[in-house]
Amino acid sequence: MQRLRSTLDRIDRRGYGAYKGLSGSHDFGSFLLFVDRVQRDPFAPPSLIRIRTKQNAFDPTLFENLVRRVAFEDFLTRSVEREIRGFVRGNRSSGGSGRVEIQRASQVVLPRTSMVVEPGYVEARMAVGLPARGRSVDARAAKAVLLEEVPEVVRRGLVPKPEGSVVPEWARLHVETIEDADHMRGLLPGLGLVAFVANGSVLPRESGASDRPLRDGAVPFESPEEFRVEVELPNRGIVSGMGIPEGVTLVAGGGFHGKSTLLSALSWGVYDHVPGDGRELVVARGDAVKVRAEDGRSISGVDISAMIGDLPGGRTTEDFSTPNASGSTSQAANIAEAIEVGTSLLLVDEDTSATNFMIRDERMRELVRREPISPFIDLVRPLHRTLGVSTVVVVGGVGDYLDVADQVILLEDYVPSDATPRAREVTERFPPRAPLTDTEVRPPRRRAIDVSSIDLRRGKRQSARGRGLNTIELGRERVDLSYLEQLAEAGQTEAVARIIREWVATHEVRGVGEFVREELAHVTQKGLDSLGGFQGHPGEMSLPRAQEVAAAINRVRPLRTASRT
Ligand code: ADP
Ligand code: MG
Repeated sequence: MQRLRSTLDRIDRRGYGAYKGLSGSHDFGSFLLFVDRVQRDPFAPPSLIRIRTKQNAFDPTLFENLVRRVAFEDFLTRSVEREIRGFVRGNRSSGGSGRVEIQRASQVVLPRTSMVVEPGYVEARMAVGLPARGRSVDARAAKAVLLEEVPEVVRRGLVPKPEGSVVPEWARLHVETIEDADHMRGLLPGLGLVAFVANGSVLPRESGASDRPLRDGAVPFESPEEFRVEVELPNRGIVSGMGIPEGVTLVAGGGFHGKSTLLSALSWGVYDHVPGDGRELVVARGDAVKVRAEDGRSISGVDISAMIGDLPGGRTTEDFSTPNASGSTSQAANIAEAIEVGTSLLLVDEDTSATNFMIRDERMRELVRREPISPFIDLVRPLHRTLGVSTVVVVGGVGDYLDVADQVILLEDYVPSDATPRAREVTERFPPRAPLTDTEVRPPRRRAIDVSSIDLRRGKRQSARGRGLNTIELGRERVDLSYLEQLAEAGQTEAVARIIREWVATHEVRGVGEFVREELAHVTQKGLDSLGGFQGHPGEMSLPRAQEVAAAINRVRPLRTASRT
């Protein structure tokens, strides 16, 4: 600390490059400050620091296993973020001067590189905009940030009461909430369920742009008696709610009655949520994939023949490629790729589906004889019967789906009821719709990806990086991920880019599911830090799912594939 102070005094008003003298570690008594990377000028990306406490005074049960440790690290990241907001003055004069940042966490809990909890210490990885006056060192401001603000953030955000301000009961609530959700997800297969929504859950969000819970007028979820399931969780004890069984589930109801909100909550149920989110115990199979139409996306060598037969010009769809997919072909590819990487649950919303992919009525069947698409309605049952893939589908307008549903959840004024018996009555009164085909759905043909078709060159360097939540940059190409509805935060996008870079570096021609599963198992075991190649610390990554990593790779253009037997 003394060295830091005297270095700062010495370099005051000198050229900004003099900040390089801060590199290395500084002892603050109760913690160490590591300055890992010093920015070149006040306008460059901020400098990277780490804070490592000299002891870990938290109750060791908070991090005694992997699930708890991830939850506790998540808690501390949020705790530091809150204290930064409260105690750091931020922007002081030029560039990013005086800003202090830690990775921004979304509403879900993920392994992240921002925080490391070990039995002997807690380490937070942060970024600091070292203060400048014009383009020279502003030592007075730097002292305020590094010697006053940062230590205060550490004491309040990383150290338990009474020495610090972290409330142990809050940490415990956080960890136990996550542990319960994780436990519930583990129970699903044994109960024959694909998802569970606890009574009292708050599903609607504040707005289309915010993932926080709706505060005013939210109707809490209450399971219909017929779908009620009771489970015992390690911390909360007995909890009851709606269990959605395997098979085909239809969510019906009038417009604006909460159908899409329920489906969206299920799609986020692959992750655990923070206490207060409202969806803490809305849980789905971890491999669930929300699929939608995505016209304009690129498709490379995907077998969509189960859904779409030969195209005009005798073009086969067993090995389908296009730089510009239509609504229906994109939705078919999204499903084939989800099956390729592995899924047990598809979530489909009419709002974001291609109509001609979902259904074709009798009259149109009469008029149009040469239609290559087998509508999804004819596939949902075979998907479950032959591949074990369940579907939850939201349909407001197409009654034909009643024929193929194992159960029907009806939403009225946001209140769900079991409409399965009424749906049966209705289908008996109307002549059943003849299925076009009684297909056995084959799994898509296996394909391998030739990663040498991914060009990471950008000038003289190789580059693969995330740009916010929705874009990755591979060399000169940008891959658009804005339709991946289960990508939760920018840290995942960054990790996806780095995983792709790892694959490209191996030059291996392999199946995408196989590579991604292996790589994620490796990263889970070794930690996200192992996605190396950093200058300084890797403080801005979150663990993605295999489904999103594969989806990103599948959208790279151009991508060369080879089919395999
Ligand atoms: P649908 O898909 O049936 O047309 P949405 O799910 O889009 O309906 O919901 C319509 C509106 O109702 C949205 O603004 C949503 O936030 C709100 N909403 C959904 N569920 C609830 C609920 N349980 N309580 C209060 N508002 C809700
Ligand atoms: Mg809707």
